[in-house]
Amino acid sequence: MRPNTMKALEKSHPKEGLWMVQAPVPEIGPDEVLIKINKTGICGTDIHIWNWDDWAAATVPHPMITGHEFAGEIVEIGRDVTGLAVGQRCSGEGHLIETDSRQSRAGKFHLDPGTRGIGVDEQGAFAQYLKLPAFNVIPLPDDIPDDIGAILDPLGNAVHTALSFDLLGEDVLITGAGPIGIMAAAVARHAGARNVVITDVNPDRLFLAEHVVPSVRPVNVSREDLNDVVHELGLRQGFDVGLEMSGNQAAMDQMVEALVMGGKIALLGIPPGKSPVDWSRIVFKAITIKGVYGREMFETWYKMIAMLQNGLDVSRVITHRFAVDDFAQGFETMKSGQSGKVVLNWS
Ligand code: NAD
Ligand code: ZN
Repeated sequence: MRPNTMKALEKSHPKEGLWMVQAPVPEIGPDEVLIKINKTGICGTDIHIWNWDDWAAATVPHPMITGHEFAGEIVEIGRDVTGLAVGQRCSGEGHLIETDSRQSRAGKFHLDPGTRGIGVDEQGAFAQYLKLPAFNVIPLPDDIPDDIGAILDPLGNAVHTALSFDLLGEDVLITGAGPIGIMAAAVARHAGARNVVITDVNPDRLFLAEHVVPSVRPVNVSREDLNDVVHELGLRQGFDVGLEMSGNQAAMDQMVEALVMGGKIALLGIPPGKSPVDWSRIVFKAITIKGVYGREMFETWYKMIAMLQNGLDVSRVITHRFAVDDFAQGFETMKSGQSGKVVLNWS
């Protein structure tokens, strides 16, 4: 029997915190499915919403059920949905798109300008049940557990960014050893990069990077000079590809400095506001820059699942697991900067 109400973690008031409430179980439309949530991941975005910073206050209406990283099981199917069944384990793309934009009609769904995010613009996944368009559902193969299913969204950010440029035999610099930077290091390795160097200023994060990807070279840029590392590794000019995953201005400057002539940068990190860039340096070094948003629909998901089934292992990036009733502890852990991914258990 379908219950009428469910537990949900909601931004109920325009101030710091999230509140566990009883919310109505969503009614699904003909093209939608209802998913019973088993596990969710806490994202940096959720921390912004928890803190109710300027971005969150300007972007997120309330009340809003937060959360967009999830794994669960389909429990109800809209009457027009084909190809999915009740009982199917799944994750899903949290960016909801329109199909009438020029980009969507060209098959570039991830570039639809009307994209709306669950847990930000639409009711989200931090709940016992989530309503999602069937189009957005990603069935989970049996060999991908719910814990990993719950972090496919940020892994997808890492995969989308890392696969922006050819990495085979290349020397790769990643700035920012947050969960996404660390997963990007694992992906770069898997994709055949020669040297993978990851920088941060937080020793805990660099320690975790090495724990998750033993062959990565961590660099604490507050203590070590990146140029010394370039020499130590025997790079002739510098790195071929840079993946910017910190949103930090100093990291971006270092990356431009450390790249070869004609190097390439994929930018995922979000700087807090306008930040000065030495454009002449980028011009004279003939650097290509690509901004990366979300995941490609659905090529990123396809590649990500294929790589996970073919030896890509990011499981150690999950450092903490909590029952959902202990959500406050989960958020505290994330905010401490001493964790990797934090997963909440809803079942
Ligand atoms: P995170 O905040 O956990 O990690 C960022 C890391 O950068 C931290 O460990 C921090 O210590 C480190 N850092 C700070 N200053 C640095 C410096 N000078 N040099 C090197 N590292 C430095 O974030 P995350 O969850 O791993 O996400 C990575 C970035 O991607 C964030 O900026 C996030 O906002 C952004 N993001 C973008 C998208 C998108 O679609 N474009 C999606 C998800 C996340
Ligand atoms: Zn996220």
